[in-house]
Amino acid sequence: MKVLKFGGTSVGSTASLLKVKEIVGRETEPVIVVVSALGGVTNQLLSMTEQALGKDSAYEATLAQLEERHMGIISDVVPGERQQECREFVGEFISMSLGGMLRMLCLNDVPADIVADMRKSIVSCGEILSSAIVTMMLGAVPRYAPGFIKTRRRDGEDVLDKEQTAGLIRKEMGSQLPAVTVTQGFISHDAATDKDTNLGRGGSDFTAALIAAALGADALEIWTDVDGFLSADPRVVPEARLISRLSFAQAEDLCNGGAKVVYYPTIAPVREAGIPTWVKNTFRPESLGTLIGNEMSDEAVAGVTSKDDTVTVVTRTGAHLAGIADQLMRALMADDIALCPVSRTPQSVTFRLMHDDVAQAVRLAHKALLGQG
Ligand code: ASP
Ligand code: MG
Repeated sequence: MKVLKFGGTSVGSTASLLKVKEIVGRETEPVIVVVSALGGVTNQLLSMTEQALGKDSAYEATLAQLEERHMGIISDVVPGERQQECREFVGEFISMSLGGMLRMLCLNDVPADIVADMRKSIVSCGEILSSAIVTMMLGAVPRYAPGFIKTRRRDGEDVLDKEQTAGLIRKEMGSQLPAVTVTQGFISHDAATDKDTNLGRGGSDFTAALIAAALGADALEIWTDVDGFLSADPRVVPEARLISRLSFAQAEDLCNGGAKVVYYPTIAPVREAGIPTWVKNTFRPESLGTLIGNEMSDEAVAGVTSKDDTVTVVTRTGAHLAGIADQLMRALMADDIALCPVSRTPQSVTFRLMHDDVAQAVRLAHKALLGQG
């Protein structure tokens, strides 16, 4: 079996959902499909919450827009015989559950601790809605992710309850999988209180990895709107190229170094379980994508990435990291950019520099080490 995760853009429009249907339809073994909210919806949920808290009824217009968007997509992608049921669910959920919470915040002075809980419930709504549509579109068996993705409180934050989650995933889906199961990314429950929580922005990738790892999937596929991991952020380096293969450690270093294509906690569970992980483009399924597994990239330098005031260069193990660091420092110093190495893994080195120099440093590093940029 495989786990296929589709991100916000992949489930965000009629055209993209029809691609999703095609991709899932090609599978011959059971698949578990993990979905994000429709692109942009999570941000809208957060901004509607702020408006409601500010007693600003402008959220109602966004809510109506949100309903219209979901309903339009239902008409386009859900087979006729299931449309009524899907519309009723989505309509009721938006007006009663989501709308009810927003009205409550707008019309009352709700105590802060309850507001905190309600924020988490509201931000969960996007995945509930998208998963209902995808389930109906695919004629799939639905699974409610908070039933098996559990968090606990640590230092005032919701963190994954790793052991419980793995056990619950196996209990829920460990035997006799139907052809297609659909579940929500991102959303979870607190193991102690059963209240709504989540795995953090971008957390759907992490949900998919947890499921793939717990079940020992043959593969995890993360379907997104870019071809895979690129050798640098293409907004900074337009010539950045696709990295066709990365080891788990290389992928982890790129994610920790700031690569946005995959949510950074995602790699650890698949690395521990040894699950081959593909990052692929829903809009260009024929493009090869990036395969993350036991083998390193073919290139001596896989990629350059940045976060805040750091730049990370990810290489092959044994690819003379010291020499590469040296080459890089010389290239940047020629451009009056000062930097110092701050940390290192067996295959990467991270430098600190002035924040304003970061984009230029990435360009120069890409050019010096990958020959383009
Ligand atoms: N919908 C959530 C977000 O926008 C989770 C995700 O897309 O992975 O952050
Ligand atoms: Mg994402």
